[in-house]
Parts: sequence; structure tokens; C-alpha cells
Amino acid sequence: MASRVIPVEPFDLVIFGGTGDLARRKILPGLFRRFLSGQMTADSRIIGAARGALDADGYREMVRAGIQEFGGAEAQDEAGLGSFLERLDYVSVDATVEEGWSSLAGLMRDGVVRAFYFSVAPALFGPLAERLHQHGIANAQSRLVVEKPFGRDFESARALNRMLAEHFHEDQIYRIDHYLGKETVQNLMAVRFGNVLFEPLWNNHYIDHIQITVAETVGVEGRGSYYDKSGAMRDMVQNHLMQLLCLIAMEPPSRFEAEAVRDEKLKVIRALQPVPAHHVVRGQYDSDGERPSYREEAGSPRTFTESFIAIRAEIANWRWTGVPFYLRTGKKLRARHSEIAVVFKDLGHSIFEGDEKRHRNILSIRLQPNEGIDLTVTIKEPGPGGMRLIDRPLDMTFADALGEEAREIPDAYERLIMDVIRGNQTLFMRGDEVEAAWTWTDPIIAGWEKRNDVPKLYDPGSAGPDDALMLLHRDGRRWREIRG
Ligand code: NAP
Repeated sequence: MASRVIPVEPFDLVIFGGTGDLARRKILPGLFRRFLSGQMTADSRIIGAARGALDADGYREMVRAGIQEFGGAEAQDEAGLGSFLERLDYVSVDATVEEGWSSLAGLMRDGVVRAFYFSVAPALFGPLAERLHQHGIANAQSRLVVEKPFGRDFESARALNRMLAEHFHEDQIYRIDHYLGKETVQNLMAVRFGNVLFEPLWNNHYIDHIQITVAETVGVEGRGSYYDKSGAMRDMVQNHLMQLLCLIAMEPPSRFEAEAVRDEKLKVIRALQPVPAHHVVRGQYDSDGERPSYREEAGSPRTFTESFIAIRAEIANWRWTGVPFYLRTGKKLRARHSEIAVVFKDLGHSIFEGDEKRHRNILSIRLQPNEGIDLTVTIKEPGPGGMRLIDRPLDMTFADALGEEAREIPDAYERLIMDVIRGNQTLFMRGDEVEAAWTWTDPIIAGWEKRNDVPKLYDPGSAGPDDALMLLHRDGRRWREIRG
């Protein structure tokens, strides 16, 4: 695998919020692994930036500790870690204050890719973009990476887009949705567009419905006060689940290339139908006597924020009319389990006497755990006793099918940061896509706010509130099991 790693151009990457949780847990350990693999060359540099009064050595020690905690087995490579840390520098700047910026300007080199990662609260995006421009730190070739949340509704997302557009062109802006960096998600496109088998069946003639589930076992824990302002709809559906839906539902782009892919995703979002109130189920986890309830964890005894949501969505176009897309995500559920399941229609008629069961082919794309893909097919139960049919998966768990190579699959953040340096925006959200996504979710949120909708309580460790089961039962369908 290492021989297939193509080094990226030398770069200076400034991480604003370089001392924060995301930088310590994901961004820096990811860069370290890319450095070990040979993709980040020795003449590249990473500059942490935050208000804290650290010097470069103090920052390196902080990053060392972060990598040792979150960097996995590779963190044992002392020599590699030492060499990586030499590529690090630090500047103390406050996004909202004038001083300190000339020292950052003095650190930047010409002739290398300049990238700026805004791993800070969105309120700082505007001031940072402004200062980078004012001090001549960013140039027309620079790239800008921004984290979620990208707005909390259409208006705020548009305001952010406009603010960034004052100093950066759209082709310089990389809006992260780390789900798009997951290997299985990219594999979804390979399976769909790289095989003759699926595309002819990928429509309302053959597909009964699609389920997208992102289930977590953790609650909001320390993030309660932040999460309570967003809820599952804003935190998960508007971005991650909608991105997955787009990749499943989009028309084949002419090329696997940024604008072509993003144009097709945008068309899907624009074709999403308004969602009636009875097609949305919101839930909130209760206490089980031992573990605290959502309200206790959020520190808000009367909050109506949802920690679970299920939606029945419809796409109004030739391919998908009549095929419901059931989306579901929540915290403190039975298992950590993320899956896209494409459930095909059953055969109208069985030639096998006594076979009354409805057999269905199901293509399941597992994001976690056990990343992989399986296709449920109907086969004969082995042995005597006549033609008895059973459904079994043709399983391609990546760890089994790919062996060593699966162990080297890069984490989503690693992959995406390298795409930024390569200047490849395919797996990033374009500004109009994000705005269109809010245009679909805003009225759903406004609807429940107007109704003073109270989320249904559910037991921790369950599959969510019973009403979510009813959402499918009403259609004569059932959710796939949430299992770890
Ligand atoms: P965090 O732990 O609170 O870190 C915030 C960082 O910003 C710190 O380095 C902080 O350092 C710096 N900072 C704060 N105010 C600043 C200012 N005025 N000027 C310059 N730097 C400033 O936050 P985080 O969890 O890393 O999250 C960062 C961003 O990523 C947020 O937008 C968050 O929504 C998003 N995100 C985080 C996660 C995650 O897992 N943590 C996941 C997805 C998205 P000083 O206080 O020293 O300035």
C-alpha cells in the first residue's frame, strides 16, 4: 500500500483552533499518519494558531500528548513522531484582535500551498477571513477549510457564505462533512457507478425503499449545552444524512469530478419534497434509573431539543417518485451502527411451492462498525427437505476481503485534508448545496417549533421511540435492526 501513496505538494497549513479538541483528536493525529505514510513531505509545515500563550516547543508537547492519546498504534513510532513534530510551529493570535498577525504573516512561505483550517466557532470565520486578507496572509491560491456547523438555518448559512465570499472564491473554500471522507461512502459510488449490476436497477421500478441509519450509543455528555442549541436535525440530518442521501439518489455525474458531482447532489436536494408533520418523529432519551436523561445531561430540565429523529423523505423526480427514503439518527441507542440499506422490491410471483415468505434483495452499505458492503440474496437452504428458501448476505467486510490493505484505510479527516492540499473539492460541500439543504430542513424545524412539539421519550439502549417504528409500520415496512 505504501508504494501507492503519492506525496502531495509541500504546504503550509495553519490550523486556527490548533489547540482545540478537534485539532488534538482528529486533525493532527491524521496529519501525523499521512506524514508517516510519506504523503506529507518533510518540507511541509503545520502552524497551530490560537489565543493561548504557548511557544513552539510547548505546542509540540501538547500535540505529542494528543497523538499519543488519539493517534493509534502509529503513535508508538517515536522517531517518526519526533520528525513530524519538527514540522510544527505555533503563533498566538486572537481572531478578534489586531495584534499578533504580522508574526503569522512572517512565517508564511512563498512557492508552497497555503491552507487555512478554521477549526473554531463559526462566529470567528468572518473575522479570520478578514484578517488573513488584511495582512496579505491569504492569496488567490490559498485554500480555506471550514468546519461544521455551517449555519443553523438558511439565513445564517447564507450570511456565512457571503462573508467568506468577500475574500475567497468558491473554488478556494472546502466545507468539511467528514462523512464524505469515509472510505465506505466513496465505495458506495464505486459500487453504484463501477458495476454493471446495480445502475439498471437503481430506480423506482426495482427499489422498494431506502433506509439511512446513524445510531450512536453515546449521549451528549460534556457537549450538552452546545448540542441543546442544535439537536439531531441540525447536528446530523442537515449535513451527514442528507449527504448520504444525495450520493445514493443522484444521477450519474459525467465524471467523478467536483463540479459534476456537486451539481448532481444539488439537484437531489432541490427535488426533496416538503415533509408533512406526521412524517417526522422526534425523540429524547430518558433516564434508565442509573444513567442520566438527556435533560439532565443538557442541564436544561424543560428542553424540547431532540436527541433522536426519524423522517420519511420523498424525492420528486422520474427515478425516485414513490420510493420513500427513511432517515433515522439518534443518541444512546442500542448499538453504534451506521448503515445505508437499499431494499429492493420482492418478486411478484414465486415458482417454489410452499414458499410464502417475501424475499428481498437488500444492498447494505455499513459505515460502522465492520465497514463493508453486503448484498442479501435468496438461496436454497442446504440439505434435504425440498426447495426451502432462505435469505443470506454475500458479505464483503473490508477487513476480511482486503486484509492488510483494509488496516491502512485512512481516517476521513486524513483523506479530506490531503484532498485540500491536492485542490480536489469533490468530497466537500459547495455553498449552494449547504443553503439548499437548509431550505429543506428549515420548514420542518419551523413546523415543530410552531406546534410546540414535545419529543417522545425513549429508553437508553432502545431503538428510539415507538412512534419511529410506526412511521414504517404504517407503510407496511420495518426498520432494519440496530446492531453492533
Ligand atoms: P474547542 O475545543 O473549544 O477549541 C476551540 C479552539 O479555538 C481552541 O484552540 C481555542 O484556543 C481557539 N479559539 C477560541 N477563540 C479564539 C479566538 N478568538 N481567536 C483564535 N482562536 C480562538 O473546539 P473544537 O471542539 O475543537 O471545535 C472547533 C470547531 O470544530 C467548532 O466549530 C466545532 O463546531 C467544530 N467541530 C468539532 C468537532 C469535535 O469533535 N470537537 C466535530 C465536528 C466539528 P484559545 O482558547 O487558546 O484561543
